[in-house]
Amino acid sequence: MLTGKHLIAGDWVAGGKQFSNAPARGETQTFSAGTPADVDAAVRAAEEAFWSYGYSSRADRAAFLNAIADEIEQRGAAITRIGAAETGLPEARLDGERGRTTGQLRLFASHILYGAYLDQRHDKALPDRSPLPRPDIRLMQRPIGPVAVFGASNFPLAFSTAGGDTASALAAGCPVVVKGHPAHPGTGEIVAQAIDAAIRATSQHPGVFSLIQSDGIEVGEALVTHELIRAVGFTGSFRAGRALFDLCSGRDQPIPFFGELGSVNPMFLLPEAVAARGDTIAKGWAASLTMGAGQFCTNPGIAILVDGPEADGFSRAATDALSTTGPQTMLTDGIAKAYRNGRDRVAGSQGVRQLLTSTCDLRQATPYLFETSGADWLGNKALGDEVFGPLGLIVRVSGVDEMLAVARSLEGQLTCTLHLDEGDTAMARRLMPIVERKAGRLLVNGYPTGVEVCDAMVHGGPYPASTNFGATSVGTMAIRRFLRPVSYQNMPESLLPEDLQG
Ligand code: NAP
Repeated sequence: MLTGKHLIAGDWVAGGKQFSNAPARGETQTFSAGTPADVDAAVRAAEEAFWSYGYSSRADRAAFLNAIADEIEQRGAAITRIGAAETGLPEARLDGERGRTTGQLRLFASHILYGAYLDQRHDKALPDRSPLPRPDIRLMQRPIGPVAVFGASNFPLAFSTAGGDTASALAAGCPVVVKGHPAHPGTGEIVAQAIDAAIRATSQHPGVFSLIQSDGIEVGEALVTHELIRAVGFTGSFRAGRALFDLCSGRDQPIPFFGELGSVNPMFLLPEAVAARGDTIAKGWAASLTMGAGQFCTNPGIAILVDGPEADGFSRAATDALSTTGPQTMLTDGIAKAYRNGRDRVAGSQGVRQLLTSTCDLRQATPYLFETSGADWLGNKALGDEVFGPLGLIVRVSGVDEMLAVARSLEGQLTCTLHLDEGDTAMARRLMPIVERKAGRLLVNGYPTGVEVCDAMVHGGPYPASTNFGATSVGTMAIRRFLRPVSYQNMPESLLPEDLQG
């Protein structure tokens, strides 16, 4: 069923160099490793496809998105089998993520049919206006051209080949070239087979989608620097994201890089809530922190609360809850190694105490829990760096003012959470203006893992959570990243885009 080839503009293409995946279980498979020449062929085909796809009707694109969802569903069992073997994620998670992926494609189909995203505006001509007449001006959002998408390691479906970046770009009218993630090339290929089938079933230009497999940075670099690429969608590490962002900015014609680079998703636990239900909050935190071996960008890595006996109780309850979590398989050996390096970095930091020690083999993760004071946090910026995995850090502050200082010290985040009761309202009001400047999504009495795909979702935030604070990579607003407004002045009806006529 797997060919190990790239899909480039409708052809399954094998290259010279090969690489092997390193599945969590089962046999290793071999895949062609892409080259800059493969990238060039895919991007030129995408540009060619744009001349039809970029001007296609919304109904046509909605039918295409729905066809991709249908084709993915038809391959559901194979996707789950291969995905679970490659990533080590449980089959139930793969099934759920597949549902989210097809749901996302269908959501974008209905979103573009509804049409509000076009943001049509019309300032009618005022020929008698003095001193100067006003021309007739209309505005509409138009697709930007070929988009590059990087598959993410931690979501082999929902943030990869046919994930949210691809779905929103295709919905906008932009052809897509995906750089597959080497942690799950087989999963990527099956999904690409589904997209290929949907392209044929709906008679799209074959250049509308390509997948290039690779296990090195050459393909990614060639993709983001290709003169015909107009924007990039990325989820991954700060280091890779920043390198790609810099390449995008350094081009002769700079392009937007929509990178989602990680976050520690702080939770502020306010005193009344901790006094009333600290144990329950601790258990909920432990469950959220360890979900999927902590390999979520919304993993709540930091809990901040006021020092005292109630904080002692919270630390004990969190330690107890986390100590029952057994080893979980991580996505790659590299991610497991980075997790342990992160543990060593935190453990070696000034004023940090380890509350929970655990050991496990490579590619397995067990939780680690640490504690520090507000003063030590404020003195060590590196404690705010993401450790990808189930690692929690409790920050005990001396009081309200220090909690506000910790909030102010935060880097940009995807989410900030407040746990509060009614008696905490005054303190929460003081925190709100600060955390609103820090994060794209604010939660009360919940946990940030489990991102709803909907109209009102923001999955983004100030740098380094994302490289574009005005954007989201989840939810229907994600389409805006791949659109640009065009004004049409004194344009005869016959020359206007169909969506502006009438
Ligand atoms: P990554 O290292 O950021 O890699 C993501 C993609 O970017 C891969 O396709 C990789 O290609 C490519 N890439 C890496 N460095 C590049 C460079 N300098 N130039 C061009 N392309 C480059 O992420 P990962 O492999 O998924 O995981 C590594 C770490 O990333 C994790 O330990 C975690 O810390 C972080 N991460 C964070 C999130 C989050 O949501 N916050 C999600 C996933 C990962 P190749 O692999 O083919 O070289």
